[in-house]
Amino acid sequence: MRFIVKNDQLIPSFHLEESVPITKVPSIPQPPVNHSFPYNHNLQHLLTGKQLLLDDIPHSLEEIQSHYENGYITYRKGIEYLGKKPVCIRCGNKERKRFASFPCARCGEICLYCRRCLMMGRVSECTPLIGWNGPVPDTNLSRQLLRWNGTLSEGQMVASQHVVEAILQNQEHLVWAVCGAGKTEVLFAGIEAALLARKRICIATPRTDVVVELTPRLKAVFPGVPIASLYGGSEDRHLYTPLTIATTHQLLRFYHAFDSIILDEVDAFPYTVEESLRYAVIQARKPESAMIYLTATPNKKWQLECRSGKRPYTTIPARFHRHPLPVPEFSWCGNWRKLLVKNKLPGNVLQWVKHRIDISKQALVFFPHIPLMDKALAILRQFVPNIEAVHAEDPDRKEKVQKMRAKEIPLLLTTTILERGVTFPNIDVAVVGAEDAIFTESALVQIAGRAGRSKDYPEGTVTFFHYGKTKEMLRAKRQIKAMNREGIKRGLIDI
Ligand SMILES: [Zn+2]
Ligand SMILES: [Zn+2]
Repeated sequence: MRFIVKNDQLIPSFHLEESVPITKVPSIPQPPVNHSFPYNHNLQHLLTGKQLLLDDIPHSLEEIQSHYENGYITYRKGIEYLGKKPVCIRCGNKERKRFASFPCARCGEICLYCRRCLMMGRVSECTPLIGWNGPVPDTNLSRQLLRWNGTLSEGQMVASQHVVEAILQNQEHLVWAVCGAGKTEVLFAGIEAALLARKRICIATPRTDVVVELTPRLKAVFPGVPIASLYGGSEDRHLYTPLTIATTHQLLRFYHAFDSIILDEVDAFPYTVEESLRYAVIQARKPESAMIYLTATPNKKWQLECRSGKRPYTTIPARFHRHPLPVPEFSWCGNWRKLLVKNKLPGNVLQWVKHRIDISKQALVFFPHIPLMDKALAILRQFVPNIEAVHAEDPDRKEKVQKMRAKEIPLLLTTTILERGVTFPNIDVAVVGAEDAIFTESALVQIAGRAGRSKDYPEGTVTFFHYGKTKEMLRAKRQIKAMNREGIKRGLIDI
């Protein structure tokens, strides 16, 4: 790797021939090299375990180059070729159609770049991924990091022990915890064990909301531990910390960084559909590292691997409050789409809603698509004017959820956007059109998991209104019943 000067700019050279090596540029001062620790605090902190673009680094090119010459900085090509096929080294993209070319000011050629990870800054053929090969920052953490007075349920305790073991022995482990089991507390002991063993640990999740919510909780229980909280636009991206909480997108900037990654909600969008995020998680791990997966709803393949003994896992089949999970009831509602087009709702759906209004019980009603939900909203508002509806692009989404929490609205219609993450203490849940393909087993288990979460209101009904039962509906119900059975058998549910 050399640097070249072109158009008065210092640039790393990968494929230019008429280059001038940086050492021939007389104006570049060579700073004294200090090999004793701490060595160049900021750049070391910024780059350890990362793969950054020049644009991500606020330091001068001269400084970067001098560290490169000391052997402390590494460059990897942003795009490599497998035969004639380009591969993006940052996000793993191999699809030809997701590359494009542009006349590049840096290398002065027509340069190929990756479109798949473009939102993290452009990786082109002349782009180096810059990393750190020097001493690793010392975090120097003292004993007794965890300040938490709570207690774990028996189910949580078993899972917690398995997480500690997996982390210390660099193994993979899945924690399959029902909705409302309290999975965050299960991680505390494992995080502390990792930190005391001077392991760098990351909690990654597909959803920004989860990062924002987890950060203050972990800061509260690990008050002496520096924590970086990473999502699009976060301020912490230059920090080196022993504990990182990040969206899976942000892991695209890491390379061989973590001794342990805890991946929360492995089954959630967009992780499930974006291959680059799965690649990012693998890249961010050290070759010898632990991987903890957390989910309430593993996919079919993983469920099978668990049952056949191929995947080490622990279930937490019961909620913290020791009541069983509400089991969904199926209720046939005929061709509800056709009725909605005629501005009508199926009789049993209408009955269900009216009953909740009569007994003043709040409810969430899920719909597969926005236009049909809006039709239903107009109909239901004739009975109760202050009903609301939310979906992913709704700018008032947060306010409406807040209103529901404050009990200012009796009923909230929603798309799958509220299938996970939200907790309302005392609600019933219905799905209208549960046969729609959008309602997978995992989505339905999550939706059912919204009911009966609070220890004050552990009961809640879950009704799937459908126009023909699907396999996914049956699987969801079977999964919930199996967890309840296991919970009873292990003495984790009071009956
Ligand atoms: Zn890429
Ligand atoms: Zn270029």
